[in-house]
Amino acid sequence: MTSYNVGDNVTTRKPHACGCSSWTVVRVGADYKIKCDNCGHVVMLDSDKFFKVIKVAK
Ligand SMILES: [Zn+2]
Repeated sequence: MTSYNVGDNVTTRKPHACGCSSWTVVRVGADYKIKCDNCGHVVMLDSDKFFKVIKVAK
């Protein structure tokens, strides 16, 4: 499984409500937190959900 670190940039399959699909990882562990690069909104996801919503690079 691909692992992510705090500060990594991820892209979601669906854009956020603000229209941006670029996010920054702000917390990793049992739960992941990602912050929208456009509006700063933070979402917490468990790891299953996290890997479902992001587009895995390459
Ligand atoms: Zn946003």
